Amino acid sequence: MSAAESGMTRRAAVNVDVDGLYLYDRVHGFAGTAGNPTDFLAADHDPRAWTVGVPRFLDLFHRADVRATFFAVAQDLDHPEVRAVVADVLAAGHEIASHSYSHPYDLSRLPPGRMHDELQQARDRLQQATGQAISGFRAPGYVLSPALREAIVEVGHSWDSSRFPCPAYQAAKTGMIGVYAAKGHPSGSLPESPEVWVGPRKPYVDRLESGRALLELPIGVLPGVRWPLIGTSVLLGGELGRMALQPLVAQTDWVNFECHALDLMDLEADQLPARLAKQPDLKLPLKRKWPVLLKFVEGLRRSHQVLTLGEWAEQADRL
Ligand SMILES: [Zn+2]
Repeated sequence: MSAAESGMTRRAAVNVDVDGLYLYDRVHGFAGTAGNPTDFLAADHDPRAWTVGVPRFLDLFHRADVRATFFAVAQDLDHPEVRAVVADVLAAGHEIASHSYSHPYDLSRLPPGRMHDELQQARDRLQQATGQAISGFRAPGYVLSPALREAIVEVGHSWDSSRFPCPAYQAAKTGMIGVYAAKGHPSGSLPESPEVWVGPRKPYVDRLESGRALLELPIGVLPGVRWPLIGTSVLLGGELGRMALQPLVAQTDWVNFECHALDLMDLEADQLPARLAKQPDLKLPLKRKWPVLLKFVEGLRRSHQVLTLGEWAEQADRL
């Protein structure tokens, strides 16, 4: 009997940020810019996060019998092969949400007009491509600002899932940005302000300065220790780590399990560019990662009611 049928009250969502390979170059300072270079054409870029990573997730979610949310960078839909994968995502009953138009890591600091355009263009493009209302948003690099939270609501989104209240992750990211700056090839990433590191771990209504409300669905962490419940941490822990983690996850009332398309890619077998070895979990072979992630999601399905983030937002009174 599934968690839903047995009336269990623990709630979970599973989601995938489909960050293209070109975005990892920006994070690791190879591209040297927070946004698109002037001659950037998404249709010219390696689409394998979508064409290799996403289909593996579709297969895994099918086996685990869960439906998920895929956060799409709207400009990627300029590539015809990406549009075909988006159609497969929808046909399998999953949700598409916005991960901005061009994934500028400094979105939270852009002038108001450009910030609004990023969000509006993304929502328009994704709605046109999917024929569905795009209700949710996740910020590039998880970084919000008061102006960005207002803009998310202004363009018509009803929920956000950018908060990641995990001190260990945020400290590591801030350290990485500092190391890259010292080495002379600055990262495109921005650090998040420390009050977010220890912010609410469960869904809440974010009251904005304008008086508007935005439902926030934070990315999952364990209570107390705030261990990150994301694909990277599960994969780096391996099967032994998963076995230790799963009973704790089963007791956690809100689990928003965030993955990246690259989590199910393999540097060697997929013949990805060697510079991506800076992503530690990419070096793990797919044949080791796949069973760990599948067992984790199957376990989550047994202990929790798993819905898409958009479905949870529609039932916000139950959160
Ligand atoms: Zn991203």
